[in-house]
Amino acid sequence: MHCPNCRSTDTRVLDSRVADDGGSIRRRRTCPSCNKRFTTVEQMQLTVLKRSGASEPFNREKAVSGVRKACKGRPVTADQLACLGQAVEDALRSGGSAEVPANEIGLAILGPLRELDEVAYLRFASVYRAFESAEDFEAEISMLRAERSAGVTSGFAATAKQPQPTG
Ligand SMILES: [Zn+2]
Repeated sequence: MHCPNCRSTDTRVLDSRVADDGGSIRRRRTCPSCNKRFTTVEQMQLTVLKRSGASEPFNREKAVSGVRKACKGRPVTADQLACLGQAVEDALRSGGSAEVPANEIGLAILGPLRELDEVAYLRFASVYRAFESAEDFEAEISMLRAERSAGVTSGFAATAKQPQPTG
C-alpha cells in the first residue's frame, strides 16, 4: 500500500479496528517519508462460484450488467443502478460467506430491482428464471399485484435472505 501523498511504499500501521458491521477492518496509517496520515479499509474478497465450477472475484459492474440491459428504455438512472449494485454487494456480504454461487447474485438483484422498476424487473426475472411462456409472466405479474395489495414493500431483504433453488 503506497502513500497517496508521495507514493512511498514504506507505510506504517498506527492502529487497526474492526468496522461496526464486522465485515471490514479500517487501518490508520502513516508515511515515514512525508508524515502524511491516511486510512485504508480491508474487506473480504467476495468470490463468485460459476456453474462451470470456476471461480472469479466478485465484480459489481459485471453483476449489474444484466440489470443495465433489462433497464434499457426505462426511467432508471446510472446513479440508481450504482445504488442497486451496492445493495446487491451488501446483501451478498451480509451473508458472511466469502464464496457465493453465481445464481445468488441474480437472487440478490431481484428484490431491489423490483422496487426500482417493475418492467425492468420482469425483463430481468424472465431471463434469470428462464420464463418459457406468457403464463410465466402472468404468474409473476399476479404475484407482484398480490404483494402490492398486501402492502409488501420490503421484498428486498426477504429475497436476499431466502435463497431458493431455481431448478
Ligand atoms: Zn508519503
